Amino acid sequence: MDTNNIQPDFDKLNGLVPAIIQDAFTRKVLMLGFMNKDAFEKTLKEGKVTFYSRTKARLWTKGETSGNFLEVKNINVDCDNDTLLIEAVPTGPVCHTGTDTCFGVKNKSADLSFLEHTIQERKNNPKEGSYTNELLNKGINKVAQKVGEEAVELVIEAKDDNEVLFLNEAADLMYHYLVLLAAKGYELNDVVKVLRERHG
Ligand code: AMP
Ligand code: ZN
Ligand code: ZN
Ligand code: ZN
Repeated sequence: MDTNNIQPDFDKLNGLVPAIIQDAFTRKVLMLGFMNKDAFEKTLKEGKVTFYSRTKARLWTKGETSGNFLEVKNINVDCDNDTLLIEAVPTGPVCHTGTDTCFGVKNKSADLSFLEHTIQERKNNPKEGSYTNELLNKGINKVAQKVGEEAVELVIEAKDDNEVLFLNEAADLMYHYLVLLAAKGYELNDVVKVLRERHG
């Protein structure tokens, strides 16, 4: 866990700081809770998110009865040291209603950034048996060729009505496209910037 010696200012809000919990992989905002100093220290010590529950008036380790804990991956503090952003991996649904986040279905994830992150990680730390590394090792031309092949496969599936095959080819194209960007030293965000600029 990377906590960079964070010491939030607990004095501004009656001993509490708000803690925004974000899914470390999907990047979705999961929930918001408050921490006092004890809750924060317990969170650091145990690597699981513990809040101070204002309704329970005690420390509350998220998941203590449901078993759906929040495993801490990283803790960030805001510009004036009074709000936490905690990246965590949930071990089950976060909301007590059974959904993955407390903020509903419109709270979209950035799933592609997770995939991009994995591809980047393979590029930086090659892994035995990794298809991404196998691909990257063959060089940019070969990766580009694979993108072309996957695009053709998607075109072929677009003619039929097989949902599974179409979605799988769409996924193949997206993955190989991201590998090509990584091989060229770019990220999806570079493409998004161009699209935004076109948009005016
Ligand atoms: P848990 O911490 O998951 O074991 O849940 C214990 C109790 O905390 C639940 O019965 C709810 O009352 C409350 N609770 C759990 N998750 C949430 C949440 N995401 N937001 C608000 N309250 C929650
Ligand atoms: Zn602030
Ligand atoms: Zn909820
Ligand atoms: Zn394919």
